[in-house]
Amino acid sequence: MRRPVIAGNWKMYKGVRETVEFVEELKPLVKTCTHCDIVVTAPFTALWVAAEAARESPIGIGAQDLHWEREGAFTGEISAPMVADAGCCYSILGHSERRGYFGETSLEVNKKARSALQSGLIPIICLGEQLVDREANQTRKVVEAQFSQSLGGLTAKAVSRTIVAYEPVWAIGTGRTATPEIAQDVHAYIRQLTSEAFGCQVAQSLRVIYGGSVKPVNIAGLMAQKDIDGALVGGASLKAESFAAIIKFSAK
Ligand code: PEP
Repeated sequence: MRRPVIAGNWKMYKGVRETVEFVEELKPLVKTCTHCDIVVTAPFTALWVAAEAARESPIGIGAQDLHWEREGAFTGEISAPMVADAGCCYSILGHSERRGYFGETSLEVNKKARSALQSGLIPIICLGEQLVDREANQTRKVVEAQFSQSLGGLTAKAVSRTIVAYEPVWAIGTGRTATPEIAQDVHAYIRQLTSEAFGCQVAQSLRVIYGGSVKPVNIAGLMAQKDIDGALVGGASLKAESFAAIIKFSAK
């Protein structure tokens, strides 16, 4: 049995005060939720206060990116040990906004994933096709390339600690969710790729979550699919009430 995970991606929203308010509001709403892991990924500046506010609650805190070096002359960057030191247990890596706007490659995502794992963080590695890829029937090819480069060379043990987020780029922030069947098809393919590269046992334990316009109204249909183990939620994670509703409807 894979334990579901519902992770919120706040992107570049919320300062320190709003973060504390959000966590304080979310805590009572999810205090009885034991069926899944709950993650909030806040901006770097709010990670420490988020982790402090979430203490003794089921909410885990994550970053949205990190640099692969532990330390050094990399002005403006934040490393995995720094993220862990700020109280985080997770980091999103290779989000399509980082790939698209900042030119991040899968090989860089691979270095970040190694560094995150070395610091005891759980990487949430994002992959997914653009609309043009889907229309040209290239989804599997794109997903396969991103998967093999982003996770390539990791040990089976490392991969079983990792979370993969399938996020079709055309569904992010557009209100256009992939149907549960479309998502399931790609999730099953990711599990097949995992089995081929890391073995059947790792494939069965790897959590593959879906991201792209997940809302309280569509979470149950997605979670009913065999290979969907949770969700990465952008817009709907910014309000404690809608995020809590997604968490509650995510029971398998
Ligand atoms: C995301 O930011 O990863 C995301 C899936 O956003 P949204 O839920 O707003 O589509």
